[in-house]
Amino acid sequence: MWNVQTTASSTRGDAGLAPLVRAIDRQAPYQRIATEEAWNIPEVLEAQVRLLQSDHAPDDSSLRMAGMFSKLPELQAQLMDLGPRRLKRMDELGIAKQLLLLTAPGVQVLEPGEGTALARLANDRLAQACRAHPDRYAGLTVFAPQDVKGAIAEIERGMTKLGFNGAVLNSHFRGHYLDERPYWPILEALEAHDAALYIHPTIPPSSWSQPYEFRGFGGALAGFPHEVWMHTMGLIMAGVFDQFPKLRLVIGHMGEAMPLQLYRFDWMQSNADGREGLRGGGPAVKLKHKISYYFHHNIWITTSGQGWEPSVQFCMQVLGPERVIYAMDYPYQQSADEVAAYDHFDLSPEHKKMLMQTNAEQVFRLT
Ligand code: CA
Repeated sequence: MWNVQTTASSTRGDAGLAPLVRAIDRQAPYQRIATEEAWNIPEVLEAQVRLLQSDHAPDDSSLRMAGMFSKLPELQAQLMDLGPRRLKRMDELGIAKQLLLLTAPGVQVLEPGEGTALARLANDRLAQACRAHPDRYAGLTVFAPQDVKGAIAEIERGMTKLGFNGAVLNSHFRGHYLDERPYWPILEALEAHDAALYIHPTIPPSSWSQPYEFRGFGGALAGFPHEVWMHTMGLIMAGVFDQFPKLRLVIGHMGEAMPLQLYRFDWMQSNADGREGLRGGGPAVKLKHKISYYFHHNIWITTSGQGWEPSVQFCMQVLGPERVIYAMDYPYQQSADEVAAYDHFDLSPEHKKMLMQTNAEQVFRLT
């Protein structure tokens, strides 16, 4: 059973819903594969800061977020290390393998040509790290969607030459989303290469970030989950999964809370499904299925930052145990207490192993 931490041994003044402090099971009958683990390269950070400080800086809330992160040297040191320091921390936390995603907002806040060039550089570096530590690291291809041709080429290179296990997008790019028609060739390429697409949050676009930034909610408190929710619902309602039925999407943070809403999504589907005049006056899109169908056929979720049993149990129940994948969210959230909590979840041995190891192996083709 789940217990709220109330003992004096808590390291926090008010532990809230933090798990009871217990030990990590060092003999667990599963490997822990963490699937939303962040990294970065100095060149990307430098290019972001350069653009932000230039006289032609775009009005881009994501770029401003990058500037804010650039002022956190300890965080950047952890993001940029793929060597002994990270491996030691993984050992301490009992993590067998990290799936590495170039951290938000990544290359997609840059100008198209520079974005693709830096995506190539980041992918080359990541491939090198994965070759050096094949048992400890796997990686997702990063691409710059603002350059469609370059993005497709980089997805192909990542999947055929660099040995990557899918692709990562840090959600919107200067307010654009992959459900817009000019970007569908990217979705086609992802499907053709059997590359699961991980959509990782960023702050909402400048056109609707002000109420969040005004209150300090641009990140995990509201902006991040709402922004990926928009992107995911946009893909579904644009008919992307009817057009590309084998396209596989992964979203973190318990599916950004969307699984809680499946019943109502289906009930209210006609708000947008089959309606004329949406998306700037484009033709009506009529979906082949209920919204919940796509959560059972095209979408997987990870548990990043959510070491909380009721939430994990609920999602495994409504989506199926094969659709929920463990993630930590290193280095932003890293906690031995959370790892230990997973070890003590009230799940069958079979489902526990699916959650911690084998679902990741299957979705990201790790074996
Ligand atoms: Ca993350």
